[in-house]
Amino acid sequence: MDSVACKVCEKEFQDSKSLHRHLKAHGLRIAEYYQQCHPRHDLYDGKFIKFKNKEQYFATDFNSRTNLKMWLKEAPEDDAKKYSINLLKARKVAKKLVYAPSQVELRTLMFPPVYYYDLLFGDYYKVCEKLGLKSKHNKFGEIMTGAAYNKDDYVIYIDTREQLPLDFDWPSEPKALKAGDYALSDPSITCNCHIERKSLSDFISTLSVKNFDRFEREIQRAEEEKIYLVVLVEDTLSNALSFKYLPYISKKIRVTPEFIFRNVRSLIQKYPHVQFLFVKNREESSRIIKKIFFSGCLHEKIDLQLAYDLKKL
Ligand SMILES: [Zn+2]
Repeated sequence: MDSVACKVCEKEFQDSKSLHRHLKAHGLRIAEYYQQCHPRHDLYDGKFIKFKNKEQYFATDFNSRTNLKMWLKEAPEDDAKKYSINLLKARKVAKKLVYAPSQVELRTLMFPPVYYYDLLFGDYYKVCEKLGLKSKHNKFGEIMTGAAYNKDDYVIYIDTREQLPLDFDWPSEPKALKAGDYALSDPSITCNCHIERKSLSDFISTLSVKNFDRFEREIQRAEEEKIYLVVLVEDTLSNALSFKYLPYISKKIRVTPEFIFRNVRSLIQKYPHVQFLFVKNREESSRIIKKIFFSGCLHEKIDLQLAYDLKKL
């Protein structure tokens, strides 16, 4: 039933793999075959969809997020709405999603960001709930910094294994932590939130094949200890998505951003007690850690990356 026919000679094959092997007989590369026999075009500029693999090829309507953005901008509102909803529906089915995709998930896929859905529909999370996706977060307005906290009452713990401790304008002391690198001395203030700090190269290496299992075990350990883990990367998400072009990231790294972020997205869907947050630099990391610790368990209510992107964090 699942057999596929070669569009050139009409011969039938058991599966795509056999068809792909057969294409040599026609002197065709796989990408050429699909672009010639199953042409797909970028909805915005009409250029051929770049072929990476069959699944990606048939699921892609744009070659870049910029083209997606431009198309949505020019499309009639009803078309833009229909398109944006269908993206979510299709992904829910294809990836068996449980939760409404977070800002990090949307920004690392060919999707409009959360605030675009808010703009079109009023509330992204309501849209997701209608599609049967659970919301981990709520829509938010301004973020309050909570009550005034006294420097004599709370200390920021820094894990003893932390290699490059951040500077805080707040008392801190080294302590062996069960998960993450930073925590507050009184966990009831933060709902037991710990923060795992990573440079961009640490982040890439942690999500690579070699270290992924160890990282997932750390996440599971946090879960057992009822610790909420924020993985804070001290570089922007845009840089993380294009690390191949950054002078300070080793050229020896073979892994692709696509692979890294596939792992990130699977962790986000699998573990609701984990968020990833990408911020500009180390100064921002210190500021954000303090803000998360003293904002009344913000991480349990809102999507931190979204708040950061909207300059509300
Ligand atoms: Zn053929």
